[in-house]
Amino acid sequence: MLNRAGIFDFIDRQLAPAAAADDHVAVIMLRVEGLREVSLRFGYATGEQAHLRALEMIRGALRPVDRVFSAGDDHFVLVLPRLHGRNHVLLAATRLIQTFEAPLPGLPYPLQGRPEMGVALYPGHAETPDLLCRRAELALAAAHARGESCQFYEPQDTPEEIFYEELREAIEANRLCAWFQPVWDLQRGTIVGVESLARWPSPRLGLVSPASFVEFAEQSDLILALTRWSISATLRHAASLRGAPGLTFAINFSPRVFARPGLVEQLMDVLEIWGLPPSVVVAEITETALVNDLQASAQAMQRMRERGVRIAIDDFGTGYASIAYLRRFPASELKIDRSLVCDLTSDPRTATLVQSIIQMAHHMEMTTVAEGVEDQATQELLTTMGCDYAQGYHLGRPEPAGDFVARYAQAHTPA
Ligand code: C2E
Ligand code: CA
Ligand code: CA
Repeated sequence: MLNRAGIFDFIDRQLAPAAAADDHVAVIMLRVEGLREVSLRFGYATGEQAHLRALEMIRGALRPVDRVFSAGDDHFVLVLPRLHGRNHVLLAATRLIQTFEAPLPGLPYPLQGRPEMGVALYPGHAETPDLLCRRAELALAAAHARGESCQFYEPQDTPEEIFYEELREAIEANRLCAWFQPVWDLQRGTIVGVESLARWPSPRLGLVSPASFVEFAEQSDLILALTRWSISATLRHAASLRGAPGLTFAINFSPRVFARPGLVEQLMDVLEIWGLPPSVVVAEITETALVNDLQASAQAMQRMRERGVRIAIDDFGTGYASIAYLRRFPASELKIDRSLVCDLTSDPRTATLVQSIIQMAHHMEMTTVAEGVEDQATQELLTTMGCDYAQGYHLGRPEPAGDFVARYAQAHTPA
């Protein structure tokens, strides 16, 4: 199957001649949608047949100088040397698309594969085989997300390339920063807590949003270190505000770590180090975690609750679990997702839905928190609807935790 060394070696041998002749080399990641299906429905032997047929079709569409490598059930790596530019690649892509308009021959049923391609060009997009392949893969993911058949690598709409060592070093050297966003009590007009949000000031990438690196951390073991960092960084700031009774500190827990043995104990240890009661912590967890590992997540949640930690279900209304799962989980808060909140004032059906979520949560003795409140009208509507708490740019943007702590401490120090 995937012979990475062979692929890299072949690409590498095309680069110097391309540089000398001032032309381009394209690396195309090609996925043929439908191929995996064949294995699943007719067995692996038939699947392999289909794969070989697809390989032949691809070869037939290309020039003799081009090379095709198999890279998994439905994946192929294409290397096209001696190209004059993008248009030349598009020509090849069009031929491939046309080829797959005919069904794959020799299968138990007529299967039409749908090709999706991601392209990275040497020298414009990358200059090494490794980076060319990775960028072609990012382009393929972008093509898939947009439902397009062919997509060139574009730096702006693919995630920053995060290097494992860089992030690991940043976490371990405590170079990430905790930012706090206030949570307001809508009915009383006071701040009742903060949500702790990680920021990574990277010398190479600038201030990286957790939207980019949390997912990366989740895909590797770094999520454990990130969680550990997040707990200690948040509670260190919480400790400096010990004089602020009732203020809560929400920490995001990735679904991947929530049910892990030892997490609850780790949280308790850090609380003890700083002399804080468990009731200052709100553990935020998304519905996805509940769906993925129902039993283990429910147990972890129960153990946190028993010790006095509050649990919030994050991004409520975007997952699949929603209402049915709420029966099984002892959550104390429901965070209504930003996607619902932002349409609140413009769409009456969304308003009805949010109103019903608030009522349901209250019947189940849960507090409601609306996320992503960006204007006064939304804030007022939520207040009228009886929503308890809210967060959003209109109420307060995330800021470095130290800045929040200093201001809060000053405002609440008796004169
Ligand atoms: P989340 O838990 O849903 O966090 C809320 C996100 O919405 C934050 O993005 C926040 O900056 C943003 N936000 C707040 N108010 C508004 C608003 O009014 N409008 C808009 N458009 N956005 C608003 P951020 O900080 O980029 O965090 C993204 C996600 O990364 C978070 O989503 C959370 O799931 C995750 N995350 C953040 N910090 C950590 C961490 O320390 N550990 C883990 N495991 N995950 C984290
Ligand atoms: Ca959250
Ligand atoms: Ca959220």
